Amino acid sequence: MPGATEPWTPSARRVLPAMRAWRMSFHQEPELSLHEDHTRDKVVAALEEMNIPHQVFEGTYGVVGLIGGDRPGPVVALRADMDGLPITEQTGLPFESKFPGRMHACGHDVHMAALLGAAAILVRSPRPLPGPVKLLFQAAEEEGDRGGALPLIERGCLRDPKVDFVVGQHVEPTVPLGSVGWKVGAFMAAADHFRLTVRGHGGHASTPHQGPDAIVVASEIVIALQTLVSRIRDPLDPVVVSVGSVHGGTRNNILPDEVVLEGTVRTLNPMTRATMEAALRRRVRAVAASVGARVRIEYVHGYPALINPPDATREVAAALGREFGKDRAIEVEYPMMGAEDFSQYLMKVPGTFLRLGVGVPGRPSSLHSATFAPDERALVVGAATLVAAAEGLQGGGP
Ligand SMILES: [Zn+2]
Ligand SMILES: [Zn+2]
Repeated sequence: MPGATEPWTPSARRVLPAMRAWRMSFHQEPELSLHEDHTRDKVVAALEEMNIPHQVFEGTYGVVGLIGGDRPGPVVALRADMDGLPITEQTGLPFESKFPGRMHACGHDVHMAALLGAAAILVRSPRPLPGPVKLLFQAAEEEGDRGGALPLIERGCLRDPKVDFVVGQHVEPTVPLGSVGWKVGAFMAAADHFRLTVRGHGGHASTPHQGPDAIVVASEIVIALQTLVSRIRDPLDPVVVSVGSVHGGTRNNILPDEVVLEGTVRTLNPMTRATMEAALRRRVRAVAASVGARVRIEYVHGYPALINPPDATREVAAALGREFGKDRAIEVEYPMMGAEDFSQYLMKVPGTFLRLGVGVPGRPSSLHSATFAPDERALVVGAATLVAAAEGLQGGGP
């Protein structure tokens, strides 16, 4: 390419009014996972307004748009998630959620508006990218088990034209507003969950000797699971095992027949994921067997770990450095133990997942909180990030 490529940020600023309007509309009417009909309709209307060909994938609530489908370069897919959370908003924003118990508290409204902004930049630009850009609007990221990415992939969103690279981003309060975070390798955790039903001998609390006490066995299991983390895995390979709910019993002098424990296991390494599951099953059975109690183990695999491949990630990081300056394309030091079904795309094609900074000094905020209100200036950075990343992966940078 002759000379240095112009940055995309000025174009992103020009589409800010449209992005702001889209974002407000999404924000005011959030929909929970697998209920994103109106959100899908809004995305479709915006794509139609821009004359962008698109497809809806019935049953998934997903929408896939395509820009420059006949261009010869590599195909880059840009992804935004669409769902809100069951939280009652307390931000006091003028465009607060209209619905109690529903809120865009994870910034997916910003992700969608930034992706539509990127689309607006691309369709208006006199400088077409070398290859096609697919727009993936994906439902049900927050759902946690099957999610929304896998159904969309199964319905063919990475085919026709075949996607070469995929890029996604998520708002992040620990990255400063105006910057974008990137990281090679393990970035987010695999999240599996378990339900353990411990069966003992119910009866009068004054006669505990008549059989295994489900409450005592369940308590031993909770403690035993903590030593799994400290004694089975490598100290340099992070693992989280948390028991989040314990249910059993009705009153002080009755021993219950059963106690149910539920919890989550988070890992970054696929080998460790398998090791932890096997170790948990073994340990739980051993504790129960030692006192003659029975236990039913249900272990469910959630999203896999999100691993950013080195080549595509470095390519995107370089493009972001050119776009924003190296000091605003920040290499993130540590992975996060949260999960994200963007990992499903990265199991199929290379690409990268980025952190869109929304952190403002003196204004602490966290995702999934009733007061989460990311600054709308992140829209400009988010849209420019997606376009610059696509261009970098298509070899269009200087
Ligand atoms: Zn979330
Ligand atoms: Zn999210």
